[in-house]
Amino acid sequence: MRSDNHVQHASQALADRVLERTGVEADRCYQCGKCSAGCPLAAEMDFPPSQIMHLLQLREFPEFSEMALRSHTIWLCLTCEICYARCPMEIDIPRIMDALRHEALARNKVNPKAKDILAFHRAFLDSVRTTGRLFEMGQIIDYKLRSRHFLQDMLQAPWMFLVGKLHLLPERVRGRRLLGRIFARTLKAKEKRP
Ligand code: SF4
Ligand code: SF4
Repeated sequence: MRSDNHVQHASQALADRVLERTGVEADRCYQCGKCSAGCPLAAEMDFPPSQIMHLLQLREFPEFSEMALRSHTIWLCLTCEICYARCPMEIDIPRIMDALRHEALARNKVNPKAKDILAFHRAFLDSVRTTGRLFEMGQIIDYKLRSRHFLQDMLQAPWMFLVGKLHLLPERVRGRRLLGRIFARTLKAKEKRP
C-alpha cells in the first residue's frame, strides 16, 4: 500500500504534491518579484523564491520541478517570512520551502551543498532529544563528526568557554521523558504520512 502511494506520488506534479501537503498554491504567483527583492538570502540562492514558484508552475515540464527539488535555495531559506509578508497574493512561501525540503529528503534528492546544513539540523535535534534542551557542546561534537569539519571555528572555543557560552556538561531538564514521547509521536506520524 505504501509503495503504491510512492508510485502515485512520484507521478504527481510537484506543485500538486506541495499543495496537498500545505494547502498553499504556487500557481497563484504572478511573478511580481517582491518576495525575491526582500529575501535576505536571495543573493546566495541558486533560484530566488519567485523563480522557485515559477519552476513549480511549469508542471508539464518535470525537469523544472526537479530543479526546484534539487535546489540549494530550499535549504538556505531561513523561514524568516519576509517573502510571505511582502507577497500581494499572500502565498506562504516558507511553507512551500518546508514541503520541498521534505520531498527532497524523501526522494533522496538533497542538493549536495546542503550537506552541512542537514548535519547541523540533525545535530541540533539529537541534542534536544537527548538532553531536553540544546546542549551546545554536544551539538558541536555531533556536528563535527557528521560534517568532518574538525578544525572549523576551533579558535572561537576558548573565548566561548570564558564568557560562559559553552559548558562541559548538559543541564538537567525536567520533563525530558515527555519530550522523548513528543519526538517518538512526531516520527510515527511522519512514517504514516504518504
Ligand atoms: S522565508 Fe526564506 S525565501 Fe522567504 S524571505 Fe525568508 S529566507 Fe527568503
Ligand atoms: S511576491 Fe508573491 S506573487 Fe510576487 S513573485 Fe513572490 S510569490 Fe509571486
